[in-house]
Amino acid sequence: MKFLVVDDSLTMRRIIKNSLQKLGFADVSEASNGLEALEEIGKGGINIVLTDWNMPEMDGMTFVTKLRQQDAQIPILMITTNAAKEDVLEAFKAGISDYIIKPFTPEVLKEKIEGVLKG
Ligand SMILES: [Mg+2]
Repeated sequence: MKFLVVDDSLTMRRIIKNSLQKLGFADVSEASNGLEALEEIGKGGINIVLTDWNMPEMDGMTFVTKLRQQDAQIPILMITTNAAKEDVLEAFKAGISDYIIKPFTPEVLKEKIEGVLKG
């Protein structure tokens, strides 16, 4: 199970990566924006994507929209501080599988990952 963590904050990528490792997911690639993420996914082998919303170069919404045009199946979790209802709805419309509000606990991360992997 290979994860791709997409966030412009190195600190946040570390936090997410550490949480994943604690949950037993050791295979994690990183990208700092949507453009890098699409490039990384293009190399193949990514099974699940955890992405931030606010990022330079290409933000999370644009990234999710583009990714969904080429892959209808891959689970996408958005992890962001944008908790407004209309933002969440917009993200689901763009094609995310589920949504996590920062800050999050490892338990919430685990639940959400299990949820999207079940489909
Ligand atoms: Mg950000």
